[in-house]
Amino acid sequence: MKKFLALVIAAVVLMTAQVLASNYVGNANSKKFHYADCSAVTKMNPSNRVEFNSRDEAINAGYIPCKKCSP
Ligand SMILES: [Zn+2]
Repeated sequence: MKKFLALVIAAVVLMTAQVLASNYVGNANSKKFHYADCSAVTKMNPSNRVEFNSRDEAINAGYIPCKKCSP
């Protein structure tokens, strides 16, 4: 039982780390970036997906903020 709990905790920590690592998602085709939970991100072609750790990082890469989710 303790082993199971440890596994669950490890899984939650890993998932949280992944979400924090990609707060912003850019589209290499449209050159726009979004919050990771923007509906445009789910519709995006995975091959156009570019992940950013910060807003500055996306802007420095030449991406412009999405008008819908305004990151
Ligand atoms: Zn968006």
